[in-house]
Amino acid sequence: MEIIDLHCDVLLKLTTLEEPKFRNDSRLHANKERLQLGQVKAQVFAIFIDPEIPQSMQFLEVMRQIEAFHTQVLQTEGMVHITEWSQLDTLAPHEIGAILSLEGCSAIGEDLTKLSAILDAGVMLVGLTWNEENAVAYGAEQDASLGLKPFGKEVVNMLNERDIIIDVAHLNEQGFWDVLPLAKHIIASHSNARAICDHPRNLTDQQAKALVEHGGHIHLVYYPHFIGDNATMDDLIEHIKHLASVVGIEHLGVGSDFDGIDMTIKGLAHAGEAQNLLEMLREHFSDEEVRGIAHNNFKQYLKKGAGT
Ligand SMILES: [Zn+2]
Repeated sequence: MEIIDLHCDVLLKLTTLEEPKFRNDSRLHANKERLQLGQVKAQVFAIFIDPEIPQSMQFLEVMRQIEAFHTQVLQTEGMVHITEWSQLDTLAPHEIGAILSLEGCSAIGEDLTKLSAILDAGVMLVGLTWNEENAVAYGAEQDASLGLKPFGKEVVNMLNERDIIIDVAHLNEQGFWDVLPLAKHIIASHSNARAICDHPRNLTDQQAKALVEHGGHIHLVYYPHFIGDNATMDDLIEHIKHLASVVGIEHLGVGSDFDGIDMTIKGLAHAGEAQNLLEMLREHFSDEEVRGIAHNNFKQYLKKGAGT
């Protein structure tokens, strides 16, 4: 069963590892061969900038990752750059869709021209922050009471004008509440349930409900730290069951975070094992519900707005 995965950090590895090969490099959780093996039909590739990189160098780093997306990912046979969501419906059987996202806006500083240039590269989803503070808002590891900054509203306006999906996965709580009524298209690309694992990267039930009320979906993340102590696939399924009970299973999907995570759960060590999760989900949910989580819910989400 095909999977649409809303988050991985392969681009970071492609710009930091020595002589990486996207096709089959075993150091990559989500290389081409593994995506194919795991029946990942479309993969979001995040541009992620390490906050340790000086501000003045960050935009260049974004460009390096976009360049790696072109020279490594898109140069690999069968990879297709998705710049219109409708392309997801026309991929040939051997093709895999590659979607760009921006994980945090720190690299743009206070310059909308930089954001515009990044969007022109074909970015389809934008997170306002990673875990730190930037000129736009405050990340999940900052004070939860600090909200969206004035420049953040300008950023949200530009994203709305260009029909970009705003990703709240790494935003702090007040930022989330401020963005919610402003965003035209909103999603949490890789977050779990705070009620099951109390981590600031996870969504409270209240946030999950409000997100879905505003047309958003929640894509669950495979990272053990956001699942719970000694996390197993069963524990990840507890998050899915919980959020399904809170917002409805038809609003859920997956965002693995492969290549952005330093540990994995057993049975989900890399993209090639992605079908294992679906197999276990079939013990709890109908085939139609599993198909929804795997890819169909996201396609329905696009039909409601972002894809048109
Ligand atoms: Zn992340």
